[in-house]
Amino acid sequence: MSSALESLRRDFGGGIIEPGDAEYEAASRSILVTGSPAYVLRPESVGDVRAAVRFAAAAGLPLAVRGGGHAFAGFGTNDGGVVIDLGGLANVEIIDKERHLVRIGGGATWGQVAAALTPHGLAISSGDTRSVGVGGLTLSGGIGWKVRKHGLTLDNLVAAEVVTAGGEVVRASTEQHPDLFWALRGGGGNFGVVTAFELTAHPTTDVFYGKITFPAAEVATVLKGWADHLRTAPEELTSIANLANPFAGGPEAPVEILVAFDGDDPELAHRAIDPIRRLGTVIGDDVALRPYADTLVDGLTPPPGIQLVTRSAFADRESVPAVLRILAEVGASAGSPFIAVRSVGGAVARVPADATAFAHRRAELMFVTTTAGPKPVVEAAGPVLDAIWKRLAPHVSGAYANFLTSATEDDVAAIYPAETHRRLAEVKRQYDPRNVFARNHNVRPQ
Ligand SMILES: Cc1cc2nc3c(=O)[nH]c(=O)nc-3n(C[C@H](O)[C@H](O)[C@H](O)COP(=O)(O)OP(=O)(O)OC[C@H]3O[C@@H](n4cnc5c(N)ncnc54)[C@H](O)[C@@H]3O)c2cc1C
Repeated sequence: MSSALESLRRDFGGGIIEPGDAEYEAASRSILVTGSPAYVLRPESVGDVRAAVRFAAAAGLPLAVRGGGHAFAGFGTNDGGVVIDLGGLANVEIIDKERHLVRIGGGATWGQVAAALTPHGLAISSGDTRSVGVGGLTLSGGIGWKVRKHGLTLDNLVAAEVVTAGGEVVRASTEQHPDLFWALRGGGGNFGVVTAFELTAHPTTDVFYGKITFPAAEVATVLKGWADHLRTAPEELTSIANLANPFAGGPEAPVEILVAFDGDDPELAHRAIDPIRRLGTVIGDDVALRPYADTLVDGLTPPPGIQLVTRSAFADRESVPAVLRILAEVGASAGSPFIAVRSVGGAVARVPADATAFAHRRAELMFVTTTAGPKPVVEAAGPVLDAIWKRLAPHVSGAYANFLTSATEDDVAAIYPAETHRRLAEVKRQYDPRNVFARNHNVRPQ
């Protein structure tokens, strides 16, 4: 251990934060979980990342890699181990103007990306929150406001620069290390530290974005009509339905339909959005033309002591009616979790299921339930939540890794269908045979 530490102090040019240091308390927290790591390392270069990975492996310490630190399961910190906090690697650079190719540091956030690309009239299909990291979101999917038109964030990944468990730097793309490139697109942080992502951006004008609300009593018809409309709506339209919003009255909260139309033509936007307005009694509608960057919101950091339980699943076309019926009932009942249903399909569905390690290509919808509160409240809600998911189980498939608080074997099996998991385990054996990168929805080496 002492010689590993000596090598680290010699080779590492970034910040090394240890218990007792002034910055330690803030540095040991991810957004949702407080940890007590032995070292938080803040690399400033790829060389620093190599030194940090080698140190963790040589010292035999558990390793956590933090991009934006937003994983619901708290993967961005640990107890007693090493945290590599990539926040210093956040450069955003347009490397090919004609192909709209952008190189992004492994620790950048989507807010930083939007700020850098907006002046160039570009945006990347990503999430809805500024502070979320490019790293975690991209490596497990990426469902954002351009998802139906341009696919998941990982569908727009062209190459990645990766520091492997052995401390080597490799470039993964369809030509170089194609097996690793396949695994990175859905396999999460299992395969190395991505120090740079090369992603295709899309010319982006202002977009029509906003929220249309309906009375809670109309939830069943609104949800059904919403899903029916999205099936044939232009792919420029992406939408999220929120039920039982705890900040707007819980089970009595209006049904919120968030819409984003990727374009600035009012006629086309109205044609795509108006059928949603006709689904019921509109009680609020603030849809307006806005800069794309303004569709991203600031993420809330829960106050200390507040815990979150987040679960997710996908619904294929044939299951959508049953799933929405159950969610509508649940959303209107006392003690309902917050429910968010996101449209997918479109460009996501045009990618073959085995082309990337994200396999849930047939899904029309992805939905999430979130229960939040002090520990006793969350624990007391457990049986209700289990009963809800038991009802949903016959109708849903898989799980979306980016919206899961837990990381059990069952979760890993839900995220990765058997054949995807088998291939991932093979790639893992090749690039990380000792499972150095284990603080994630872990795929063990085969
Ligand atoms: C407020 C909020 C809003 C969200 N909105 C969306 C949304 O709109 N769409 C969506 O799809 N998801 C969304 N998510 C989910 C989000 O995609 C996940 O929480 C994701 O894990 C966050 O990535 P991160 O880099 O911030 O997290 P981290 O906790 O830093 O990382 C998550 C995982 O990825 C690994 N990782 C991160 N960066 C790297 C890297 N560079 N190299 C190797 N491994 C890395 C980590 O080791 C960890 O295992 C949201 C989450 C929150 C909390």
